[in-house]
Amino acid sequence: MKVHLALAAVGLTAVLLTTAQPAGETSPAAAPTTRPSPVSPVPVPSSSVAPPPRVYASSSDLPDGPEFSLAGAGTFHVVPVNGPVVGTGPLRTYAVEVEDGITVDEQAFAAFVDATLADPRGWTARGARSVQRVSGAASVRVRLTSQQTARNVCGFEIPVDVSCRDGNFVFLSAARWVRGAVAFLPDLNSYRTYVVNHEVGHAFGQGHQPCGVAGGPAPVMMQQTFSVANDEIVRITGGVPQGAVIPRDGKVCTPNGWPYP
Ligand SMILES: [Zn+2]
Repeated sequence: MKVHLALAAVGLTAVLLTTAQPAGETSPAAAPTTRPSPVSPVPVPSSSVAPPPRVYASSSDLPDGPEFSLAGAGTFHVVPVNGPVVGTGPLRTYAVEVEDGITVDEQAFAAFVDATLADPRGWTARGARSVQRVSGAASVRVRLTSQQTARNVCGFEIPVDVSCRDGNFVFLSAARWVRGAVAFLPDLNSYRTYVVNHEVGHAFGQGHQPCGVAGGPAPVMMQQTFSVANDEIVRITGGVPQGAVIPRDGKVCTPNGWPYP
């Protein structure tokens, strides 16, 4: 009897070993009959294996990514184009400028700003205003700056790289233009859409807003470079209002770059 029990236990163990196979692993019998040939017989060095995604301590951390211009001359030049009037309503002109001495594809930057401001989901929606890119005098000047110039202009008391609006000037930090923000990862274009619309929104008279509907798209005037969570914005700003009182109400929005998504 003891022998039978022992055999039964062995059998049970075998079953357990079989069923304990990690999910997702396939047995040899289930493997595809044809396998793609390896691209190269050279073993892949362990250093080329992608590390696990970084876990950010704060949503306001600058994401990992390519290098960007740390400093520039502090002076700017216009990227000259006279564009069409887009939309209806009172005309607001804008110029696109780049800081001297920084490395950036100026035409690509300008084209992105143009496409963002001309989009029907943007500030021209509902006939509120029309926009036109110009080379000379403009009501808004959108400037791509080095990280240090943005820190000088926008402040760094809260040690977070941000962009800002000062009078009729919009300063977009290359640090964020190249890296984006954690809430938008891995969608850099959506972040760029956000930062253009947000800062130009200030130039158009818009102030900050909190997340209003949990799970809904964040208002474009929410400080999404910090976070799309109201509580986290309060924590990052130390509760000092940034032009609007953000309630500590637990609401978390989804990232959004459009005034009228
Ligand atoms: Zn703002």
